[in-house]
Amino acid sequence: MTNPAGNFYCGVDIGASATKLVLLDADRQVLARAMRHSGVDYRGTARQCLDDALDTAGLTGEPVATVSTGYGRKNVDFAGQSRTEIHCHGAGCYHHAQQAVSVVDIGGQDNKVIHLDDAGKRREFKMNRKCAAGTGAFIEEIALRLNLDVSELDGLAASTEEPVRLGSFCTVFAKTEILSHLRQGAPVEGIVRGAFVSVVDRIIEMDPLDGMVMATGGVVAHNPVIVQILASRLGRDVVVPEAPQFTGALGAALTAHKLTATQ
Ligand code: ADP
Repeated sequence: MTNPAGNFYCGVDIGASATKLVLLDADRQVLARAMRHSGVDYRGTARQCLDDALDTAGLTGEPVATVSTGYGRKNVDFAGQSRTEIHCHGAGCYHHAQQAVSVVDIGGQDNKVIHLDDAGKRREFKMNRKCAAGTGAFIEEIALRLNLDVSELDGLAASTEEPVRLGSFCTVFAKTEILSHLRQGAPVEGIVRGAFVSVVDRIIEMDPLDGMVMATGGVVAHNPVIVQILASRLGRDVVVPEAPQFTGALGAALTAHKLTATQ
């Protein structure tokens, strides 16, 4: 498929860990997704993601419109506009939910809770940016301490029902605590499950999460056990949309489409 007229729309989410990009067609259907480590050259990474996505979709030309979001959103030279992560995550989730929803996004460096009303309008949001507690960075630190790859954590957590409780959310204190548990012979899978429980505790401490709950972000995408623990703590289902790590990029692409349609 080639599309020299460039009748497609782009959203790019430059996170502190990963850059995610979504291309939509004129009917707001996903044509392609691309993801790379953000690295240090955000501008270059964004352009590489666009090239990857164009290749995947078999497209040529440039998007009709691009909206950028995320930590590095000011670094996308092909984006006409940028929007906050809160706006774009909200837009991406409402596209799936089509009703009032409480969004929980667990990313690399921060957690967000966003409440949307029935029309998709934001009622309230909370974001922890001050420390790594309960974020992807916390999980990565736990993996490092246990000499594991992050991709191994979910399988280990799934293999036990008995978490080794960590007393601290703080990455620095949790590190010391883990060493002490290992010294006392605690099983690694229990420690991993305990770390997942503390991620969920941190979210619930941030916000009680009313109504329909939707979970997104890289941590959610790669660790379904965290979603199971959250659902069991809330006593109800937690919805995970398709491609949960791309929700912000999807919201940015939807915004690009909407801006163009209303011009
Ligand atoms: P950000 O937008 O802040 O860059 P993301 O929502 O993209 O964050 O999530 C990044 C996080 O996803 C990482 O910190 C890591 O915890 C998790 N992650 C990414 N890839 C993997 C993987 N292959 N296995 C397990 N976890 C992963």
